Amino acid sequence: MSTVLTRDALDLRVDFPGLLTPQGAPWHYLDTAATAQKPQAVIDATVRAMGADYATVHRGVYARSADMTLAYEAARRRVARFVNAASENEIVFVRGATEGINLVAQSWGGANLKAGDRILLSTLEHHSNIVPWQLIAERTGAQIDVVPLTVDGRIDLDAMAAMITPAHRLVALAHVSNVLGSVLDVKRAADIAHQAGALLLIDGCQAAPRLKIDVAALGCDFYLFSGHKLYGPTGIGVLWAQGDILADMPPWQGGGAMIDKVTFARTTYAPPPGRFEAGTPAIVETIGLAAAIDYVEAIGLDRIAAHEDALVARTRAALRDINSVRLLGPEDAAGIVSFVMEGVGGSGVHPHDIGTLLDESNVAIRAGHHCAQPLMAHLGVDATARVSFGLYSDESDIEALLNGLDRVRAIFG
Ligand code: PMP
Repeated sequence: MSTVLTRDALDLRVDFPGLLTPQGAPWHYLDTAATAQKPQAVIDATVRAMGADYATVHRGVYARSADMTLAYEAARRRVARFVNAASENEIVFVRGATEGINLVAQSWGGANLKAGDRILLSTLEHHSNIVPWQLIAERTGAQIDVVPLTVDGRIDLDAMAAMITPAHRLVALAHVSNVLGSVLDVKRAADIAHQAGALLLIDGCQAAPRLKIDVAALGCDFYLFSGHKLYGPTGIGVLWAQGDILADMPPWQGGGAMIDKVTFARTTYAPPPGRFEAGTPAIVETIGLAAAIDYVEAIGLDRIAAHEDALVARTRAALRDINSVRLLGPEDAAGIVSFVMEGVGGSGVHPHDIGTLLDESNVAIRAGHHCAQPLMAHLGVDATARVSFGLYSDESDIEALLNGLDRVRAIFG
């Protein structure tokens, strides 16, 4: 099958064994926002870490364990450089963004929130940036307010500025929406939050794989992302938190490795980041994450962003030509295009049917509520069809999508 590449295509498909069907045909994977395929370099790094290099970290006195500890801590420095943290001690390894947000909610929220305090979220948040706050709000008596969206699906920062009060202790927002692709002006959100005396947590799950992240320039207080969306393994994610804030946070899980000294009378805790990493960590996955960051940075996030922007523009233009398609989200969405197919008199094609039929053409999209049910309610739909790109996506994926949608329209009339 010939592959027509976009002008600025990165042509990296060969690095990704996952982009083929079992029969060896191209698989048009348009669900990278759910999880990214892995480059061979990441697969090789994890195989080495699980094989010839494998040992525990932080405890062994033998050379292999000492080497693995060096590699594990080098990965932490690698992540610190990736987000421009002031110190690697601001990098806490977690299982994923979900666990990281729960960590902040339980640890920071448990220590700092009380009845009368308020938390500010937005309409477009992923459930993992809603439910952890509901859990801690229930425990502490704090309350949640919701920043609305602009007509084109961005978090409305004017509305946020108007509604924030000194009672708001924390604002938690997505950098890039996993449904609409809308990009938040984090710096402005941070200024608004800080003027009111609140901290700003940014869910960077969809931003870290496609935008250059500089936490110092963004001005937020917490930043989170998951390794598996950044072309790395599952089971590893990153919480960055500003050092002084992290130093004041109590542990949230107890166990080995997070302590200073344990007696039955009293236990003291390790300084961050160890305080927040109880138990044997995800050693192999952390090494894989460092390899993924090496891979992504060798290509360059600017190039990845420009490449995905071109694919989004091309996809939106083509979908706009289909009468029944209603495009969601802003024109300058990052890497993600959501749409619904509406028919005359309210009938339409359910996103699940679109997804199932596209699968028969080796095109994989996501159909559903995307763990953003409040956003679905706001959009007046129960589901959307979502196309999301990665650095390996190219024009052949869009062609396959459009051909597949022709078939959907032929079948559904
Ligand atoms: N936030 C956003 C914006 C996401 O897209 C996702 C993953 N879909 C998450 C949070 C949760 O990430 P994970 O499941 O890797 O913890």
